[in-house]
Amino acid sequence: MNKETSIREPRNENKRLTFFFSQQLKEWKTARYRFKDLKKVKTKKIICRENTLQVQFNPARMVSTGAKIDKNSLAKRPCFLCAKNRPQEQIFIRLDEDFDLLVNPFPILPMHFTIAAQRHQPQNILPNYTEIHNFLSVYDNLTVFYNGPKCGASAPDHLHFQAGISGLLPLQKEWARISNSIERLFTLDEGNEIAALSTFICPLFVIYSTSAETDEALFRKLYETLPKREDESEPMLNIVAWRDCEKYITVVIPREQHRPSFYSAVGDAQFLISQAHWIWPV
Ligand SMILES: [Zn+2]
Repeated sequence: MNKETSIREPRNENKRLTFFFSQQLKEWKTARYRFKDLKKVKTKKIICRENTLQVQFNPARMVSTGAKIDKNSLAKRPCFLCAKNRPQEQIFIRLDEDFDLLVNPFPILPMHFTIAAQRHQPQNILPNYTEIHNFLSVYDNLTVFYNGPKCGASAPDHLHFQAGISGLLPLQKEWARISNSIERLFTLDEGNEIAALSTFICPLFVIYSTSAETDEALFRKLYETLPKREDESEPMLNIVAWRDCEKYITVVIPREQHRPSFYSAVGDAQFLISQAHWIWPV
C-alpha cells in the first residue's frame, strides 16, 4: 500500500514539495536512476519562425511515448495511476478531496510530478479545469500541463495533470517576446481576458486570469468555441499553465491530429516523437 507522506515541515509549500521530491528519490531507486539519467538526455536546438525549439532524445520515455492507448490495451493493463497498482515505494501528497500529487517516474523535467485523480475516471478537462488554478495558487513556482485523451496522455483512462518547475520550457523562456504579439479576443474585466497568438510555431490561445472563478469562466467560454469531433469526448487540446506573481497564465493549444504522420511510418521514416515535446512534457 502506498504511503501518504507525513511531511509537515518545512512550512513553505514550495519547500515542502522539494522535500517530498528528495524524500521520494531517496526511497525509490528506479525513479532516482531515471531522474539521474535525465542528465544524459541528448538535446538539439531548432529555430523555426524566430522561435527556438528544443528536441530531446530520451529513451527512458519510450514507455510513455510508445504507450498503446487503444481501448483494448488500456483494459488489459493495470492502471499505473490507481493507488492500488502504484509501486510500493511511491509516496504521495494528498492535495485535496480529489487529487494526489506523485513524483513522475518517467521524467522529462528535473522535477516532474503527476497530479492524479484519486478515483479512476477518464481524462476530462472541463469539470476539472479549476484544479489547475487551485494547484498553482498553492505551488506558485510550478507549471501545470494537461494532455487531452488523444493529445499525449499515456493514461487517458485515468484523469491526471502533470507539473514541473516553472520557466524551463522553451515556450516560457521566450514568453516575454512571444506574448508581445498577442491579440485580445475577449475581456471580462481588468486582468481577465482571452487572447490569441498566431506568431508561434502553432496557433495558441491564452487565458489571463486573477481568480479561480474568472479563470474557469474564461476557459469555459473558449472551450465552447473549439471544434469537437463526433468520435471525441472533448475538443483536442493541450494546456500549459503557470503563474506570474498574481497573474495566472493558461496557454491552450488546439490540436488537429493525435500523432504526426511519421509516428506510424515504417523503417527509417518512423520517428516516435512525443506530441510537442518541444513545448511541454507528455
Ligand atoms: Zn486508474
